[in-house]
Formats: sequence, structure tokens, C-alpha cells
Amino acid sequence: MDTSAQLDVALRKATVERKKREGSRCLGKQRDGHYALSVGVPTACFTADQLHTLADIVDRYASVGHMSTAQSMILLGIKRQDFDQARQAVLDAGFQVRSVGRDVFHVKCCPGADFSPFGLQRTFNLVAKLEETFRALPTPQKFKIALSGCPNCCANTRLAEFGVHAVTKGWKIFVGGKMGFAPVTAQQLAGPVEADQVVQYLAAVLRSYRDLAEPNERLARTIDRLGFEAFQSAVAQCLDQPYDDLEEEARRSRQAMEQGEVAGAVE
Ligand code: SF4
Repeated sequence: MDTSAQLDVALRKATVERKKREGSRCLGKQRDGHYALSVGVPTACFTADQLHTLADIVDRYASVGHMSTAQSMILLGIKRQDFDQARQAVLDAGFQVRSVGRDVFHVKCCPGADFSPFGLQRTFNLVAKLEETFRALPTPQKFKIALSGCPNCCANTRLAEFGVHAVTKGWKIFVGGKMGFAPVTAQQLAGPVEADQVVQYLAAVLRSYRDLAEPNERLARTIDRLGFEAFQSAVAQCLDQPYDDLEEEARRSRQAMEQGEVAGAVE
């Protein structure tokens, strides 16, 4: 089997440059010379109708769909001249167009107690609340969230910036995990806490991260640089602060993303 590949140095360089830009970013140009879109549905639950619609969109605009490791559906092979139409068709069908830029990502989750025999808490309503409140909020680097319905952590809870897993009495919260070239396991920040407190903690973690991070710094590095206890104390100090400002900023950022104001759409 031949798996060899020739690196496209110019494309790689252009992609690295695009990654340095602040705010939301889409997948942009791929090695086939066409473009890709990251598409999703909140809680990763879809209906047959939604899949039929997406199948039509793939048929019309893309060469293939790919299931990403983060529970997104990547539409690959979109021609430059079709990109805006494909993007609008995805939004009109009720899907999210997802960013891979410097902002709060969607929540990767498992089915939790609604379906899994091991689930200790229900996951979908909490996932929906976290996404409605914070998705697309600008952050110093990408900010991933993972949520699992029990300590088995099928959603890779401890490999995300903000990871949550259920226990009998509520939720445990972990921060500072990541994959990439040098993976880091998240550390426990709090818990068990109630579901409403998870939202409050996420607001406080985002506020602290935005205040304390160096430009372009992932949360794992910020925590490493400051020390876990210092970061934990910063979170504790803003835990009771209302988060309407973050919610409004995230809403505006999502709106801009849906209007196509993202880096790498068609360049
Ligand atoms: S994390 Fe627990 S509840 Fe979720 S799918 Fe895995 S075993 Fe089930």
C-alpha cells in the first residue's frame, strides 16, 4: 500500500498564516484546490430530514462528506464559485457553520443519561445551554469544550480546554486539556457542582483566560505559565459575575460568522 504524499509547501504556509488571524475562521482551501466547510448540529443529534437535506447539499456542492473527530461533518471538495451558496444552503437547512478559529467551539458530547445505560446525568440540555451562551466567543486561541454523561468520558473530556463529566451528585469540571503535537491532560477545577454552576464556571474560565493569556496562547500554556492555583483563584474571583456581556459578544460573533465574515472562506 502506498501512503506517500507530497507536501504542498505554499498551501501549508498560507494555512499557517491564516491560523494567526484573530476571530472565527473556516477550513479554507484544501489540497484538492477546493474548499471545505465544517457543519454541525447542536448536541450532535440529527433527524432523518436533516440528513436528507445535507445529502442534497453534498450532492449539489461537495465531492464528499467526512465525519470529523470533533462530531462535525466536513463538506469537502466545494468549488470556489459554489462556496457562498453551499454555506447559505447549510445555514438555511438549520445547520451550524462551525469555526476552526480563535473562538469558543461547539460542545463535543455523548448521549448521557437519556440513552446510555451508564449515564449519570442528562447531557443534551446542558450542551445546548453552553452552546447558546458561548459558542463563537472570541478567545486568544481555539477553545474546545467536551461533556460526558459519566466518568468513562467518551467525549474525551480531559483533552479539551473545558471538560465536564457527570457524577451521581452533579458535574466535575476540568480545565486546560488539549491534543495536538504535545497533548496535555486537563486538571480538575471544581466539582461536583450543579448544572447551572457549570455555565457559571465556563463564563469565569473564559473571562480569566481572555484576561490572562498572552496573544495566541492556548489555555494549557496559560495555566502552565501562571500555575494552576493562580488560575483557579482568578476563576474564583469572577465566578459570581454576570456573563451577559460574554453572551452578547458571542451572539454578535456568531452572527458575523453566519454573514460570512470569517477568514479563509474563499481566498
Ligand atoms: S461517557 Fe458514560 S454516559 Fe457517556 S456514552 Fe460513555 S459510558 Fe455512556
